[in-house]
Amino acid sequence: MSASLARELRCIDCGASYPLAYRLECDTCRGLLELTYDLARLEAAGPALLTGTGLWRYAPLLPIADPAHRVTLGEGGTPLLDCPRLAGRLGVRRLLLKYDGANPTGTVKDRSSATAVGAARQFGYRLTSVVSSGNAGSSIAAYAARAGLRSLIFAYERTSAPKLLHMQATASDLIIYRGVYDDLITLWDRLVEEHLFFDCGASRNAYKQEGKKTLAYEIAEQTGFRLPDVVVAPVAVGETFIATARGFRELARAGLIPRAPRMVAAQAARANAITRAFRAGTPIAPLTIGYTVAEGLAAGNPGRKGDWVLRLLREGDGLAADAEDDEILEAQRLLARVEGVWAGPTGVATLAVLRRLLAEKHLDPGATVCAIISETGLKTEAPLPSRTGIAFDADSLRRLVHERTAAAG
Ligand SMILES: *Cc1c(COP(=O)(O)O)cnc(C)c1O
Ligand SMILES: [Zn+2]
Repeated sequence: MSASLARELRCIDCGASYPLAYRLECDTCRGLLELTYDLARLEAAGPALLTGTGLWRYAPLLPIADPAHRVTLGEGGTPLLDCPRLAGRLGVRRLLLKYDGANPTGTVKDRSSATAVGAARQFGYRLTSVVSSGNAGSSIAAYAARAGLRSLIFAYERTSAPKLLHMQATASDLIIYRGVYDDLITLWDRLVEEHLFFDCGASRNAYKQEGKKTLAYEIAEQTGFRLPDVVVAPVAVGETFIATARGFRELARAGLIPRAPRMVAAQAARANAITRAFRAGTPIAPLTIGYTVAEGLAAGNPGRKGDWVLRLLREGDGLAADAEDDEILEAQRLLARVEGVWAGPTGVATLAVLRRLLAEKHLDPGATVCAIISETGLKTEAPLPSRTGIAFDADSLRRLVHERTAAAG
């Protein structure tokens, strides 16, 4: 497997650079750090630099140098689905869905868990930890188990039963907490400073975030480097959005694509701090939020990552928009019925936002649009569907079949 081209950590605010150690922010200005790479090597070698399948195909562009530290459950390499019928329903020329529900724990989080847990090994940590509304917790726990590390997972009490079961099965320690999710993240972020565990949270760790960058590389390879005009990414604190935008930027710098696509940040209307700031042209004002069906997007205070998202949007002609819970559930049903993709509410927020933007004529209907569908529907809780037929013997079954086939006629 190929060596990593990662070179250093660089402060996104003041530009100070640091060697590739476990460091979460800039010493000088407390700014967030991003990883830099020897992109000239990518430019020279082109796609031939990439070998193998799945996430670690992009190992040269990831910061885990020693192959022995890399961990995998088969993440990445998810399908890019061309959806002409759904495109017709939404009124857009071409719609591609990057279906990340196909990852091992059913969400986009597996991309960042692979590099987070790889980094924990790289820096000699035995204990990983994260605060989660369910997806990050089950993903980090699964990857930690796979790597032979411990996991201390804090899960939100409103987390759905399938996610709780998943975490209970995989975590070495699972704690259910009550109270405000955003507050717990802030308190937990402070505990990180005591180095009791490796930071697998979304707020600061550049190594963790980096795994999600592979979304951009995969979309590029899957389209033969003829990228969509617009990419819609979900945003809670912004890790997925920032990482994807960074990936496109690297591809452009290495000359593999002419320019990065236009990025849309998609939020739940009940957790839309970034969208509000974008619309008003102001800094982000943290929100106290309640429940949204898009559980994975329930962040009222996106912190410094939120500022980074805004900066990328403003630099790159981007757009931020949101969708109400009922629109998200409607998009979920539409996607399942029209294309057979069963995604969770968090996973389809991008689709609901895209539908709204097209309906309100904020996007060109002649465009090719890619939406990241970040979660399977199999981790969601829902009441059982109402019964619509009972068969108890050959006659009753025959009657049901005849009724339904006549109706389908
Ligand atoms: C966490 C999550 C996201 C996005 O969160 P970011 O912190 O903004 O990256 C999107 N979709 C799902 C399913 C998630 O679990
Ligand atoms: Zn700095």
